Amino acid sequence: MDRSAIGAEAYELMRRLFPLCRSLTGSGVRATFDVLGEYVPLERTEIASGTQVFDWTVPDEWNIRDAYVASPDGTRVIDFRRSSLHVVSYSEPVRARMTLDELRERLHTLPDQPDAVPYRTSYYSRTWGFCLSDRQLSTLDPGEYDVVIDSTLEPGHLTYAELVLRGTSEDEVLISTYVCHPSLANDNLSGIAVATMLARELSKRQPRHTYRIVFAPGTLGPLSWLHKNRDTLQRVKHGLSVSCIGDAGGLTYKRSRRGDSEVDRAVELVLRESGAAHRVVEWEPWGGDERQFNSPGFDLPVGCLMRTPHGEFDGYHTSADNLDRVRPESLAEAVQIGLDVVEVLETNRTCVNLSPYGEPQLGRRGLYRSSGGAVKSPDDERALLWVLNLSDGSASLVDVAARSGLPYTVIVRAAERLEQAGLLASAETESGSRATQDLAPR
Ligand code: ZN
Repeated sequence: MDRSAIGAEAYELMRRLFPLCRSLTGSGVRATFDVLGEYVPLERTEIASGTQVFDWTVPDEWNIRDAYVASPDGTRVIDFRRSSLHVVSYSEPVRARMTLDELRERLHTLPDQPDAVPYRTSYYSRTWGFCLSDRQLSTLDPGEYDVVIDSTLEPGHLTYAELVLRGTSEDEVLISTYVCHPSLANDNLSGIAVATMLARELSKRQPRHTYRIVFAPGTLGPLSWLHKNRDTLQRVKHGLSVSCIGDAGGLTYKRSRRGDSEVDRAVELVLRESGAAHRVVEWEPWGGDERQFNSPGFDLPVGCLMRTPHGEFDGYHTSADNLDRVRPESLAEAVQIGLDVVEVLETNRTCVNLSPYGEPQLGRRGLYRSSGGAVKSPDDERALLWVLNLSDGSASLVDVAARSGLPYTVIVRAAERLEQAGLLASAETESGSRATQDLAPR
C-alpha cells in the first residue's frame, strides 16, 4: 500500500464531502453516498419514516435548500451557504421578520469558545435555530432581521449504504462508521474516508471472511441495519467501528463489551507491533455505533478504533473541527492498521499440538537451524517452541504472539511449518469437529 497516496486520496475525499449538509436523513447523506460510490460500489437501503426499529421510530426526512438571517438591507449575516453548521439540524421551515431580541433565543453560541460555531441537532423534537460564533453575535445590531429556513420535514426515508465483499466463509467482519455529521472533519469525515479506503483495498483481495462495510447515520443507522439483519447476526464474528481518526493524536482502541474478544486481541496486537503511539481503553456504553452493536441483546464483538476520542479533542462538535484538524498521514496510518487487523483476522486460528508429550524432535524434521539452515532467525526457532507449547486447543495464534512477545507473522510462519511437518493441526477441522490428539504418551 502506498501510504502517502492513500493519505492524499482520503484527504481529498474529505475535502469533497466537507460542504455537504449531512444529517440523520435526507439528500446530504445520499449525496455523500454518491461520492463514495465513485470509490467503492455501495448498496443502499432506505428505511421509511414511521418504521419501528426496536425502541425507536424512524422520523420524517429532513431536507434543506437554504437558510439565512438577513439584515434589513438584505445582507446575510448568518448564511447556511457558508457552512451547514449555521442551521440546527432538523430545523423546521421558517419565514419571519423579527427583532434581534426575539431571535436571540433561537441563536446558539459557545461563550467559552467565542470564535467557534457550535454543531446542534434536534432530531426528535420539532424546533428551529441558528448557530454562530459568540463573537459574531456580539457584533449584531439590534433591530429587525429576515429569518428564513427553507427546509422540509416530511415522510421519506433514512438511508444507509454498505459494501459486502464475499469471502470463502459466511463468517462476517463488520466495519461501520457514521455519516450523519455535517461540515465537521475529524468527527466524522475522517472515519468515512478511512472506511472507504479500507473497503477499496479489501476489495482487491480474496478474503476468507465476508467483509461488510456499513456507512450509516449515527444511532438510528446501526439500529436500522441491526433490525434489517436481525436474523443473520450470528454471522458477525468480529467488528470494528471507525470514527474520529484523522487528527494528530495517537490511536485509541476501545474494547468491545466482552473485553477479550478476538477482534480486541487482534487490534491490540497490531497496535503493539505497529510501533504507533496508542492506548487501549475499556468498554463504556458511550461513543458511536459500537453502543448499538454491543447492546446486551446483540452483544456483537465490535470494538472502536479512533484517535482522540469523541468529546476529548479541542473544537469537538464545533466549526473548529475543520479540515486543518486532519492529517493525511493520520488517515493513511489508520487504513494500514485496519488492513493489518484484517490480515490477523484472516490468518488467526487455534491449533492443537499433535505431539504434546515433551518437545518433539525438531532437528530431525529440519525445523532447527542446526540441522539444515531452513530457519531464518532465532525468533523462528523460539516461535516453534511457543506455538507447540501453547497450542493445547485453547490459545489462538494471536494469543501465542501476545504471550510470547514475538511478531505475529513469525508465529504464523512457525504454525505453518509445524502443520507441514505434521506436528500441529487446526483445532477446528473442516467438519467442525476438534482434532484429536493422542490420549497417552507413546
Ligand atoms: Zn459527533
